[in-house]
Amino acid sequence: MTAVSPEPGGGGSGGGDAPAPARGPSLRLLPRLEPENEFFWTSGADGRLRFLRCRSCRTYVHPPSPRCPDCLSADLAPEAVSGRATVVAYTCNIQEWIPGSRPYVIGLVAIEEDERVRLTTNLVDVDPDDVRSGMAVEVVFDRHDDVYLPLFRPATGDRP
Ligand SMILES: [Zn+2]
Repeated sequence: MTAVSPEPGGGGSGGGDAPAPARGPSLRLLPRLEPENEFFWTSGADGRLRFLRCRSCRTYVHPPSPRCPDCLSADLAPEAVSGRATVVAYTCNIQEWIPGSRPYVIGLVAIEEDERVRLTTNLVDVDPDDVRSGMAVEVVFDRHDDVYLPLFRPATGDRP
């Protein structure tokens, strides 16, 4: 899983500043873009999910890494995937961390191309009671400026 870091809480000088509150309409914690992972978090701009893939042995490398863990090649490049995945595990959060918030589902999904490639995400457009392991899902992106968070909803069933 790629770590999701909160926005840094302001400048380094001065000291003693309280951490900045989350900004904008959403209280999601957004990832910090780094050269290594920027492609992943901005991939949804064209509606496609991408993972780093080794050009030598074709292994998907996630989280992004400078070298392939299988063959140690440094010849890696982002490659689009179908966006289809399967729910491996899930949990429903019913605690109102934010007053008035509704229950939401945190899911672990494995992508269709390689079940070893897994994302911790939110499952959306689904009643929490209807989620089950093995469920077919597909990516949808939740845009926050330059960041496109990949979330997953039940697959529409029009698979080729
Ligand atoms: Zn490799």
